[in-house]
Amino acid sequence: MDTRTTSQEARPLPTAPEPGILAAFEAAKGFMPVDEGLALYAAAVEAGRLGLPLLEIGSYCGRSTILLADAARAAGVTALTVDHHRGSEEQQPGWDYHDPETVDPELGLMDTLPTFRRTLHRAGLEDHVVALVGRSPRVAALWTAPLALAFIDGGHTDEHATADYEGWAPHIADGGLLVIHDVFPDPADEFTGQAPYRVYLRALASGAFTEISVTGSLRVLRRTGAGV
Ligand code: SAH
Ligand code: MG
Repeated sequence: MDTRTTSQEARPLPTAPEPGILAAFEAAKGFMPVDEGLALYAAAVEAGRLGLPLLEIGSYCGRSTILLADAARAAGVTALTVDHHRGSEEQQPGWDYHDPETVDPELGLMDTLPTFRRTLHRAGLEDHVVALVGRSPRVAALWTAPLALAFIDGGHTDEHATADYEGWAPHIADGGLLVIHDVFPDPADEFTGQAPYRVYLRALASGAFTEISVTGSLRVLRRTGAGV
């Protein structure tokens, strides 16, 4: 088949990233296992068929962004990623998920933006990503464009996870996807709280979303109704 002349619908899209992209993902700092990353990638490619941007909340050092950016490249859309780059509560000095390499020595504050930029540049994906640097609710308050996918992987307190849902889920287009990371129904499994699980339950209870896949702590829901 001559793929140059086929329509958006008929164009065969990849279901998994190429080895070079997968290697870049595995080499990147971050908090996403490979099986969950592959599920995120597949969801992102599928959602990208809507011809609308893919959005991530929680860029950190660009690990999951690599997958969204590569899926966006394949689908011919843009990946957007939101982060203030100062780290979540559990990533601050003295906490379990702290990485001293993420501290800006001049300010003595976390700054994951330089590593994020290196990660995307090295993966050759810089052109497919727009990084939004700021607090998620402040960016969401200005947002009006429809999204093919929103991936919630930001702060894990109820305040942050709820604000991410309320700020971004309404912008997911009909047929688009809501992906939530770190969903732990059993409190014995979780390390950073169950706020993402509560957001997941709320999304299902809204009647606007239908679950389509579960991979580890990653949940993929499709927007099938109104009233988020
Ligand atoms: N997706 C990443 C991990 C994200 S960690 C990966 O694959 O490795 C969570 C990130 O959310 C942190 O970088 C933190 O700075 C960011 N964050 C937490 N609360 C936020 C908020 N309210 N607004 C913007 N970013 C936030
Ligand atoms: Mg996560």
